[in-house]
Amino acid sequence: MPENLKPDLFTFVADVAVRRGDPLPIKCNCGGVITIMPPLQEELVVCAKCEARIKLILLPGDPGYIIGRAPNGDPMLIPVQGSSSEKLNISSEERQRIVEKLRKEWSGPGV
Ligand SMILES: [Zn+2]
Repeated sequence: MPENLKPDLFTFVADVAVRRGDPLPIKCNCGGVITIMPPLQEELVVCAKCEARIKLILLPGDPGYIIGRAPNGDPMLIPVQGSSSEKLNISSEERQRIVEKLRKEWSGPGV
């Protein structure tokens, strides 16, 4: 990939939303929203508000959240945009529980 196409941010998009074929709002970190039309033609979109280039990473199915790592090394749940609301609307307790469990696993012996 040429250097000038390097994205500033990346975000995860659920394949289920792309297959649905409806306009899909992608939220930028700045709060701006870029609406894309499936099928995805561009894997990079540009935020109109902050001009960040956002790379879209398509994930199969309807994953809800994926597990990422915060800058301080803590596990965090990253929402997959376009996932169904049942998958995304977990309570903060549930989210906390998952993160705690991961934190224990990650700090276990041999890691
Ligand atoms: Zn932005």
